[in-house]
Amino acid sequence: MIAIEDDARLTQLFSGETIRNRVAELGAAISGDFSNVSEADPLYLIAVLKGAFIFAADLIRAITVPCTIDFLSASSYGTAKTSSGTVALRHSLSVANRHVLLIEDIVDTGLTLQRISDELTAQHPASLGICTLLDKPAARKHPVRIAYTGFSIPDRFVVGYGIDYGEHYRQLPYIGFFSS
Ligand code: 5GP
Repeated sequence: MIAIEDDARLTQLFSGETIRNRVAELGAAISGDFSNVSEADPLYLIAVLKGAFIFAADLIRAITVPCTIDFLSASSYGTAKTSSGTVALRHSLSVANRHVLLIEDIVDTGLTLQRISDELTAQHPASLGICTLLDKPAARKHPVRIAYTGFSIPDRFVVGYGIDYGEHYRQLPYIGFFSS
């Protein structure tokens, strides 16, 4: 485990300011696309814990149309850097007839979002879209249709801005990767 103090080995990929600007753009695009929602039928944001909690907190403040938010717990990595190939989901959400937008930190193989989408689609939402802060297209094994992407990145293991390594580094205001 690399100590938090040892972030000299962390190379910054996106600064806090770059992330802020992109989140503002995503919020504007989502608000434009969902201009038809109302207080009676608001956009339903569902953020995937834990990694998307900071992204979701910033994104919801950049969305100007009526919306509500809930959280769903998904874990596929444990404390390792490679996917376990199984996804454990925890939630008690009702999405029937709702306009749902899933908020994810990273789409890697696509397995997590495929599992979540399959489970929620079975409840017949009015619509189901995906917004991810980061996309690693080179790592995709399970096809997922992403409506909003913050940044496409190479297949590197990243941390920061809510994204962890062994539960550490979530508090970093930027996104970085470890240089060897
Ligand atoms: P997928 O199911 O698409 O393979 O993986 C999605 C999940 O794996 C993400 O939500 C995230 O929790 C984790 N993940 C994928 N790539 C990375 C990475 O580079 N760093 C960290 N910390 N987690 C990652």
